[in-house]
Amino acid sequence: MEFLRRNTLFSKIFLVLFAISFAVMALSTLAATFASFSSYENEAESTLLAQTESCAKLLKGKSAAEIEESLQGYPLADLRVTLIQKDGTVLYDNWANASSMENHSQREEFIEAQKSGTASLMRRSETIGTDTLYAAVSLDDGMVLRLAETRTSMGSFLSGMTLQLGICLGIIICLSFALSRLLTRRITRPLKEVDLTNPLDNDVYEEMRPMLYRVDEQRRELKRQNAELERAVEARREFTGNVSHEMKTPLQVIGGYAELMEYGATKPEDNARFAALIRKEAAHMRGLIDDVLTLSRLDEQGDQSHDPIDLSGVCRSVISRLESTASERRISFSVNIEEGVVIYGAESLAQQLIYNLIDNAVRYNRDGGVVNIALRKAKDEAVFTVSDQGKGIPEEYRERIFERFYRVDASHSRETGGTGLGLAIVKHSVSSLGGSVTVGDAPGGGAKFTVTFPC
Ligand code: ADP
Repeated sequence: MEFLRRNTLFSKIFLVLFAISFAVMALSTLAATFASFSSYENEAESTLLAQTESCAKLLKGKSAAEIEESLQGYPLADLRVTLIQKDGTVLYDNWANASSMENHSQREEFIEAQKSGTASLMRRSETIGTDTLYAAVSLDDGMVLRLAETRTSMGSFLSGMTLQLGICLGIIICLSFALSRLLTRRITRPLKEVDLTNPLDNDVYEEMRPMLYRVDEQRRELKRQNAELERAVEARREFTGNVSHEMKTPLQVIGGYAELMEYGATKPEDNARFAALIRKEAAHMRGLIDDVLTLSRLDEQGDQSHDPIDLSGVCRSVISRLESTASERRISFSVNIEEGVVIYGAESLAQQLIYNLIDNAVRYNRDGGVVNIALRKAKDEAVFTVSDQGKGIPEEYRERIFERFYRVDASHSRETGGTGLGLAIVKHSVSSLGGSVTVGDAPGGGAKFTVTFPC
């Protein structure tokens, strides 16, 4: 019975079922008892009446004295026989002394028998003091023959059956218990057996479907998130591998030159050249580290600021920073910048992405080429374009150049000091600022990058 003390669906259903089945069984038993008792009573009543009538038939046409005589010889078992005269005087009674009995003219059965010939009824007999069934039939001369039988009352009938009723109650309790337990098990089994790893494969109650759909949805969402997480971990692993690989090359070069110088394998006049090469590789590594750090920051979504950025000012400052590098290869800038173009976000991101795009346009330009830079406001967008006169980017590479460490021509990229991360940073920064970036052909055959920012 431990299960009944716990707050479970099983105990709730069980108690309700038990109460209902117990009530139904107990009430039906009681009703059946009452019904059989009353039919038993009815039967006794009609038997007694029939007996009285057949007795009356035998006494037809006889005088009072003759009747008295034949009644004394009549086999009456436990029946009481009374012969009452027309005026209610008792002539004969086999249980009491007739002369000492009171006048019976007011007895119901006597009045009824005189009126309609026969009567039968149940009442408490004042003379005997128990429930008595009477049947009366009128004879000749207004005389009435009455037969009476003592009956057990309903109360004493029931009290006589205490043991049987007790056993019956016990059976009812056991039956209700067993039935309710069986039914409750049946009802709760689908709930217990639900397989949450495959929620939609269960054959369950309709009411449970919405819940199982939700579980299924959440499982799928979890799976998707896990796959995403795995992809991110994989990408990170790949990225780390690429970074170490990228760093090895300049370190090997630096190490090689330093070794040559250490063992005096270089002529003193070449030292300056080697030192410059070492410096170049060191600068390349610094650039790589800077880019890796920038990307990690972007990956962590560190900068969520929404400050106004003067994009026109940013473009101009980037151009002035790149002017000397460009002039080394006689590259010029053709600038068309609209004043006061403002976007919202982190200024460092805007600066970095514009720097990377213009820097690429310089690095991949032909010597003496022109870099076209334009910034304008269109509706609620700011559009920044940069194009060059280099070799351009073939159609098939345009999607991939935004991937980390993807280069169309790796050796040329390294030659120009590229890290292979510039456009990945651009893509990431642009999406952080809520914009988009596309690449196409410039009119002279070079590459043209277009960035759109929401204002
Ligand atoms: P990198 O440091 O190698 O320049 P980026 O991520 O900036 O790396 O660019 C990826 C690749 O896209 C470059 O290696 C280069 O092949 C190509 N690319 C980028 N910008 C241009 C451009 N303006 N013209 C031609 N090719 C370009």
